[in-house]
Amino acid sequence: MKKPDLKSINEIRLKKGNNIVDTHGPTCHTSGMAMTNWPKTLQEAIAYFANPDNALTAAILLRWQGKPVTCPTCGSIKVHFIETRRIWRCNELHLQRQFSVKVGTIMEDSPIGLDKWLTAIWLLSSAKNGISSYELHRSIGITQKSAWFLLHRIRLAMQAGNFNKCGGEVEADETYIGGKAHNMHKAKRERVITGTGGMGKVAVMGLLERHGKDGHSTVRASVVKNVGKKLLQAAIRANVAQDAAIFTDALKSYEGLDTYYVHKVIDHAERYVDGRIHTNGCENFWSLLKRAIKGTYVSVEPFHLFRYLDEECFRFNNRKMTDSARFALAASAIVGKRLTYKGLIGSELPQSCEN
Ligand SMILES: [Zn+2]
Repeated sequence: MKKPDLKSINEIRLKKGNNIVDTHGPTCHTSGMAMTNWPKTLQEAIAYFANPDNALTAAILLRWQGKPVTCPTCGSIKVHFIETRRIWRCNELHLQRQFSVKVGTIMEDSPIGLDKWLTAIWLLSSAKNGISSYELHRSIGITQKSAWFLLHRIRLAMQAGNFNKCGGEVEADETYIGGKAHNMHKAKRERVITGTGGMGKVAVMGLLERHGKDGHSTVRASVVKNVGKKLLQAAIRANVAQDAAIFTDALKSYEGLDTYYVHKVIDHAERYVDGRIHTNGCENFWSLLKRAIKGTYVSVEPFHLFRYLDEECFRFNNRKMTDSARFALAASAIVGKRLTYKGLIGSELPQSCEN
């Protein structure tokens, strides 16, 4: 018998892929079978997750990434599945021995079924301009308030842990997000517009790394208290590696960056592009963000704005993926993240669940 050569085995392995976000859909390691019917479109996803077995299999796969199911309390793999109740029981002796696939994820304590959760994750990760709680409420048949809470929890899963600094060519830019005051209800106007300047607008700073490790630009954005020199430069130094080249507009807050970086300025009063010196990548991201916020979410409480930034960054940074792969990436980031309703609204009463 002819011995299989090592090269062809490796090729087969590579082709099969062991990446959860493989464009062909996740590979089921436990059974060694590829999930060939993994949905590729929204329509397929809805039909697929409507079957409780499919939804559970998908959630297990996304959550444990093809590794054995482990107890969320003690980490033991000595667990057994109670089929009738679709939960596991840990063999170790401790409290909370029974657990569902939702425990320890953004779905914990949620009475909403896996089919609706997975569909909602698909919708939010693929909708170019986002999806409002009203749309989700109508699309999957849950209350608008539940939809609002659910969307915020998915945004939490989309939050990127930016452990690495960006480098190479980096654009830094700032913008303001905020509703038009004259469209607001009087009570809201009084609540939102406090103090002077900015008219209730929130300052956001963005950093865009051009042609990063995957060959396309990636962005990170955060809410800042103001666009003063101290804050902006602290954010840049925390996020950008020292050998980077930074491109900004002529805002005074960026002056002095050349102490740490190669800093090139484009003065928008004169022109918008000078060779590689421009902030058009950031401008493009701002326009996508504003389109989602103005078109879909209409108004966003400043307090929650960072969650919408996470959502937009997630879609932007993973824009080259298929919808199916982007869904799998978002859904596999649900572990270890929890957001309770109290945690979401802070200590205050919900002022608005309107987006
Ligand atoms: Zn245990």
